[in-house]
Amino acid sequence: MAIKLTCLACGQANRVPAEKLGAGPKCGVCGAGLATGAPVDVSFDVLEKAARTDELPLVVDFWAAWCGPCRMMAPEFAKAAKQMQGRARFAKLDTEAAPQAGARYGIRGIPLLIAFHRGREAKRQAGVQPAAKIVEWTSGLVTA
Ligand SMILES: [Zn+2]
Repeated sequence: MAIKLTCLACGQANRVPAEKLGAGPKCGVCGAGLATGAPVDVSFDVLEKAARTDELPLVVDFWAAWCGPCRMMAPEFAKAAKQMQGRARFAKLDTEAAPQAGARYGIRGIPLLIAFHRGREAKRQAGVQPAAKIVEWTSGLVTA
């Protein structure tokens, strides 16, 4: 079975055989890794597309450079991304670079995690979370 994954770097739609998710699949257009186990910076437009079409859960950290708690959570988010490699993808959206995200996603404060799955928002969690909590929170989606 092939899984639809949007390249988080260039926005290209890719199809990846499920059994190849752990084998470092790359975007057919730009060559960026599709399931690297590390958080990827994503633009607003690419996020919109990925959130709509991706068939693997996508966990997005809405953050900003001025936000101290966001910076505190960054290494925890990265750890969680590594543990969830091949089961979910992790992305970061800089809310300063994409101010339209505030209204689009109803963001009241950051850091904010939103998990997208099957073309819609599956759940959200505000505030700083440790890696173990993020993994547990995301795992619920993978089995759902
Ligand atoms: Zn690409």
